[in-house]
Amino acid sequence: MEIMKLLPAGKDYLWGGTRLRDEFGKKIDMTPLAETWECSVHPDGPSVVENGKYSGRTLAEVLREHPEYLGTKVEDKKELPILMKLIDAKKDLSVQVHPNDAYAREHEGQNGKSEMWYVIDADENASIIYGFIHPVTEELLRKAVEQGNLDKHLQKVKVHKGDIYYVPAGMVHGIGAGTLVAEIQENSNVTYRVYDYDRIDTNGKKRELHFDKAVKVMNMGVAPDVKQRHRFVHYYPGCSRETLCRCKYFETEKIEVTKGVSFVVKEESFQIILCIEGEGQVETVDENTRPVRFSKGDCLFLSAGTGKCYLLGEAEILKVRC
Ligand code: ZN
Repeated sequence: MEIMKLLPAGKDYLWGGTRLRDEFGKKIDMTPLAETWECSVHPDGPSVVENGKYSGRTLAEVLREHPEYLGTKVEDKKELPILMKLIDAKKDLSVQVHPNDAYAREHEGQNGKSEMWYVIDADENASIIYGFIHPVTEELLRKAVEQGNLDKHLQKVKVHKGDIYYVPAGMVHGIGAGTLVAEIQENSNVTYRVYDYDRIDTNGKKRELHFDKAVKVMNMGVAPDVKQRHRFVHYYPGCSRETLCRCKYFETEKIEVTKGVSFVVKEESFQIILCIEGEGQVETVDENTRPVRFSKGDCLFLSAGTGKCYLLGEAEILKVRC
């Protein structure tokens, strides 16, 4: 079985910073470097395998050839259903919304996009936009966008390092300036921009808005409760573990490793490991599988059925599976 270390694709969106290069070791020559698509089979930003027998090939190719690496839960789809990114928001992202699966498959030929953010770091006054503070209508929104005062309808929430936000398809949202997040989402790249702060890009043009589509897929009601829930951290010798999010599409766990942690990658699903702090190595009991070292910013894909794994080191990781 393969433990694949992945090389991400980068995105130079105008709101990005340089922290992914400066602090997360990304060797991508883009300024700004807004996003790295760490584990992706999406044609808009495919990850490439860095090590082992698939070195130099895209993860998408490898998984097409070996759908069994995905696991029995997703094998029949023949495609990785998840996309994982690092996002460095030096400036505000646009106010946006994503369609659900039904709409996106019919109109865009892609999946819908529900997403989860884990806040890796946040400036003192950093905030996000999370839904509406009161019910709105299409007319109200159209006027607000024209007049540039959409803000008064949006819920702004102060964010802190370690926060978790689940953003279901249909919820209007925006990551605010001074926030660095890991995003786990459906494998999709459909975004409808509602408002972009009238910014112009490097070509001197405003980025396109998609108001008409956005209002078709948008939840116009009041946002759900945004308070951070009680968190249950389980402590073991050598690590602590915490389930951050469990939804229809993925399950995310945060593990703080002080010495080591063992876990099993079963036949039913692959697992993805994203290191957000520290360093270490993953090894298996199978002597044909070579140990793989990782450090801050690295992302590993563990094929379904890899079996018992040991992760040794001192690190904070996010571990995602189906
Ligand atoms: Zn989004």
